[in-house]
Order: sequence, then C-alpha cells, then structure tokens
Amino acid sequence: MQYKRSSALFAQAEKVIPGGVNSPVRAFGAVGGTPIFIQKAQGPYLIDEDGNQYIDYINSWGPMILGHAFQPVVDAVVEKTKLGTSFGTPTEIETKIAELAVSMVPNIDKIRFVNSGTEACMSAVRLARGFSGKDKIIKFAGCYHGHSDSFLIQAGSGAVTFGSPNSPGVTKGTAKDTLLARYNDLENVKELIQANSNEIACIILEPVAGNMGCIPPKPNFLKGLRDLCSENNILLIFDEVMTGFRLSKGGVQQLYGIQADIVCFGKVIGGGLPVGAFAAREEIMNYLAPIGPVYQAGTLSGNPLAMAAGLAMLQALNNDDEVYKRLEEKTAYLHKGISKVLNDNHVVHTINRVGSMISVHFCETEVKDFQSAAEGNNNTFKKFFHGMLENGIYIAPSAFETWFITDALTYDDLDKTIEAVGKVAKTL
Ligand SMILES: *Cc1c(COP(=O)(O)O)cnc(C)c1O
Repeated sequence: MQYKRSSALFAQAEKVIPGGVNSPVRAFGAVGGTPIFIQKAQGPYLIDEDGNQYIDYINSWGPMILGHAFQPVVDAVVEKTKLGTSFGTPTEIETKIAELAVSMVPNIDKIRFVNSGTEACMSAVRLARGFSGKDKIIKFAGCYHGHSDSFLIQAGSGAVTFGSPNSPGVTKGTAKDTLLARYNDLENVKELIQANSNEIACIILEPVAGNMGCIPPKPNFLKGLRDLCSENNILLIFDEVMTGFRLSKGGVQQLYGIQADIVCFGKVIGGGLPVGAFAAREEIMNYLAPIGPVYQAGTLSGNPLAMAAGLAMLQALNNDDEVYKRLEEKTAYLHKGISKVLNDNHVVHTINRVGSMISVHFCETEVKDFQSAAEGNNNTFKKFFHGMLENGIYIAPSAFETWFITDALTYDDLDKTIEAVGKVAKTL
C-alpha cells in the first residue's frame, strides 16, 4: 500500500499539533511508522487519504458499534443541525435520551450528560467523594478512566498503598489519594481497604477491562467487590464507557447481574459525537448541583447534535432484539478463525473475548491483569500490526487495545480478516 498523502499530511500536522495528533493512541508510537489519515468511512470500512480501503476493527475506539455513517445517526444529526447547534438552555431531546438510557440500564434513576468519558469518570468520582464524605479511591492497574489527574496512577513496584504519578503534572497530593490494586485480585483490594479503613470513597473499575486488551473479570470478582463495598460503606463505580450499550443493553451490570452504585458512559452512548454520561440511583444523583452540593457543569453538555446522535444510536440498539446476539456470534466466529490460523502456523498466542470485544495477545500465559498483559511479545505485535495493515485490516496500533466488532461487518469481511491473519502469521 502507498501512504504518500498520509505521510505528507502527518508531516504538516506535526508542525502545529504536538506529535501530529490530538490523542496519543492515534500516533503509531508503539508500532512505528506514521499514522494513516482517514478521509471517510462507511459501514465496516475506512478509506484513507491515499484511497486505500481497510476493514476497521477500531471503530473510533468503540462508538461505531453499528458501523460508520450509520444512516439513522447521520439523518438525526443533519436534521438537528438545521435548527441551530447549541443554545445553552434545556432542550427536550436531553430528557428523551435520558429516559431511554434509564429504561435500558439497570439500577439507575437519573443520568447527567457530559462531553467525554474522561469527564464522566472525573465527575463520578467527585460525586462519590462528596456523597460519602471520604477522599481516597481505589483503581486497578491497567484500567483506563480517562486522562484526569486522579486516574493517571500506575504501579510503582511494591507501592500498593500510595500511588505514584504516571505523568508529570499530576501532583503527589493527588496521587496519594489514589490507591492502586491488581485486577482480578480480591485479596489485594481487601488489604487496601483494611489499611485505609473509613477513608475510601469509591472503587472504580472497568467491569470488563478493555484498555489492557480485553480482560474478563474472574468469576466472583465483581460480586466480591460488590460485597466489600457494601460492607465497608464504599461506592462501587462501574466505568462502562467502553462496555456500556456494547456488551448488552444494560452493559456489564446486566450481563453479570451485579449492581453498581454509579455507572459511567461514553463512546457508544454518543453515536460518534463527543458524549459522556454518569448515572446512579436518585439519592446519589440528587447530590449534584443545582439541587445538591457537588458542583458539575458544562457549556456544551447535552448539546443537541450530540444528543440527536446518541438518541438515534440508543434507539437502534434498543429496538433490535438480536443485535447483541449477532455481535457475539460474529466475534466468536472471528475468535475461532484467528485461533485456528495462528495455531496452524505455530504462533504462540492467547485470545480474550467478551461479547464484541476481543484481543489477541502474543503470549502463552493467561492474560488476567496488567502484568500478564504486559508479557505479550511486542515485537511480534508490531510485525502483526503492520502486516495486517498491509493486507487492508486496521487494528489498533497497540498491543494493549481491544478490537471492537461492529454489526456492519459481514461474514465475508470476517473471512478476509482471518485469511489476512493466516498470511501474516507465516511472517511472524
Ligand atoms: C475511552 C475510555 C475512557 C475515556 O473516555 P474519553 O471519551 O476518551 O475521555 C474512560 N474509561 C474507559 C473505560 C474508556 O474506555
């Protein structure tokens, strides 16, 4: 493939945008080479600035669960735009999407819309702190909750009690209130709670992790966390920015039958426009301004175009009783096909999958937390990534990302993908 125009556009972008991108994962930092610039997309396909076509497994990092340029979303946004793009006043459509979201997701009475998943998680934690009157939070290594300060904390060796900042600019003061735990390790969480009794406001996690590859919760991990939270007066926050409206209508709460106290949304809920949201039972949500003391606001929150896109997306998902079954079947088909061709070519690998989230790890051991995910062979991944791209398959340029399956994919697309994996496997 030729990437002439993409390369030229990237060189131009680098002069005026740090690293040439507005979000770091878009740069090919982990795999080398220059990012491809996309011109347009339709259904499961991306077309780049050089005219190359790809089958897309990133899908804007999750939102495009029904494919690109999904007609009902496009129509809703176009129609709304003609009526004015923002008023800074309440609008009817905000209530409509709120009613629909509350009807689809278990255990929530009220929802507030924001502009990104980061904002949703940041606001959810502030609400949890305000509601509980406590300061500390527990997060898990390898879980991503956006780029706000409290979340940019990763494992310092042995430093499980006090987190250390993962980025310059995050103060030690902020870091000390974020306690770090190992995913799928209940004992570790128990120890943290014991060492910080009565100081922990909330536990936040991706209930199915998707930002270190796809990592399912072990049986009883979520239930165990739920019990620990209830026993210790801690709020349980499910960050369902990735899993919400993707793994089922009601997200992971519905999938595994576990009740969270606060749930965060993003990605699918905006239909491809910048939307996030957080939701909880009434008692907690009424703690928010203007009726409660916890301040949270946004000039463009609940923006009519964003709400129109989100509403059209949620309606499409809500009205289609088979959509999650189809997504699951397509992903299982892909899983089986990829496993087979990798095995045929003796490529050591582990594949994790939940519903329409799937990740391929080039390691033998079970991938169950950040540490085991980091054991994958990154050199193999780099080769795999570029090989797939060369064969017209666009997967995320990092071994720590999940592939997102869209319902727009046909079985022919899946077969082409499996065939490409087989071809590339021979070169690994
Ligand atoms: C993407 C993501 C976020 C951050 O959302 P943005 O819209 O990128 O700010 C937060 N949590 C999870 C689980 C995510 O996958």
